[in-house]
Amino acid sequence: MELSKEHIARLRELLARPAQRIVILSHTNPDGDAVGSSLAWAEVLRGMGHAVTCIVPNKYPYFLDWMPGIEEVVVFKTDTEGRAARAVSEADILFCLDFNAVSRLEILSETIEANTTAVRVLIDHHLSPDKGFDLAISHPDSSSTCFLVYSIVEALCGTDAITRRMAELLYVGMMTDTGNFAFSFLTPELFRAVAVLVEKGIRIPDIHNSVYNAYTEGRARLFGYAINRKMEVIQNGTVAYMSLLESEMRRFQFQQGDSEGFVNYALTIKKVKMSAMFLAHRKFIRVSLRSRGDVDVNLFARKYFNGGGHKNAAGGKSFVSMRETIDHYVRSVAEFAAEGHLG
Ligand code: 5GP
Ligand code: MN
Repeated sequence: MELSKEHIARLRELLARPAQRIVILSHTNPDGDAVGSSLAWAEVLRGMGHAVTCIVPNKYPYFLDWMPGIEEVVVFKTDTEGRAARAVSEADILFCLDFNAVSRLEILSETIEANTTAVRVLIDHHLSPDKGFDLAISHPDSSSTCFLVYSIVEALCGTDAITRRMAELLYVGMMTDTGNFAFSFLTPELFRAVAVLVEKGIRIPDIHNSVYNAYTEGRARLFGYAINRKMEVIQNGTVAYMSLLESEMRRFQFQQGDSEGFVNYALTIKKVKMSAMFLAHRKFIRVSLRSRGDVDVNLFARKYFNGGGHKNAAGGKSFVSMRETIDHYVRSVAEFAAEGHLG
């Protein structure tokens, strides 16, 4: 990944005016990369003397509760005091982190559209970003938004500006979005960045434990149930899927974030190249897709589930019943395979 000198110059120019009101937004169902990059970028901007509010559409998963500064993130869905709407309406700059389209803000989208004067800056690593940003720092070849923020800070003010707190926040996104440094774009630059974060004093085993070994008993049992009872393998053993109904989630005291990682598990089966998870919500079914190698689930998500994401990790939504969603998936997989997309 190479940053554009012009982008950094534009950013420097934008941030030169003192004491601006800045809002940092991240996507619905915020994950470690969304929260980590938002909070770290907020600290950098505060260090420059700006007033910053971080907003997410809905709650982050409970296993991120420990992240430094997370209590200051305004959760739009439960924001009864109107802090989010006020901050957005007064903002001079809106930073959009870790998502590529305003629609990914879902319930927060309208509030954002209402402010027409703030400068809009995208800092993201998803494919095919929306038009309409005043500055789009879009790097689909960055393994995480946290690595992108790290690189921007390095270019803008040097790594001396990175505190231990920021280092912890940035590491969370680098670790989670790369599946513990196992997915794509594992460049020497990424590991150099990790080395700098270690120099700042982060404790990798502690961060790992805080994120991955902090689930409830219900989640562990739900995982066993989902793999044993709900996983189906089709297409001659090369494609898997799994679904969870609301009644099943209730039985295991489901909390948001509990299904994190389930969709990846089917890919531990040697022959499986593509995996899907269908998670029932009150008004729709959330679709998560993962793949290996050349199988492009970003394309699949766009074509069949009105979604998108990355080549090997994407998502979308379905507005029909679970049965119809699964039937649609099975038919779509057959078509996708017939077109040669499954290798
Ligand atoms: P997850 O399965 O972890 O929710 O999402 C995987 C990836 O797909 C993420 O990078 C996420 O941003 C993207 N993604 C998930 N759902 C949607 C969606 O509805 N629309 C688009 N465009 N991207 C999505
Ligand atoms: Mn990300």
